[in-house]
Amino acid sequence: MGDKKKDKKKQVDTVAEIIVKRCPECFVSLPLDAKECFSCHSKIGRADKHGKARKSVNWISYIICILSWTVFFVYIKWAFKL
Ligand SMILES: [Zn+2]
Repeated sequence: MGDKKKDKKKQVDTVAEIIVKRCPECFVSLPLDAKECFSCHSKIGRADKHGKARKSVNWISYIICILSWTVFFVYIKWAFKL
């Protein structure tokens, strides 16, 4: 009785072949094997399932960040003799 049309939006999973990925910084389309954006020159990783490239982790700045925080806490401990 009273069959309403199901207007629910189907979640369109674009599992279809992704032939381009998008730069996470400027969203320009890049070839799948691109490692660097030609537009903004940011390093990019592999594309995820949405076709958007992952940011490649900048390990050096990551480690420098951790080290500087460690030095900071050691200094605080030393300075206040905790
Ligand atoms: Zn870019």
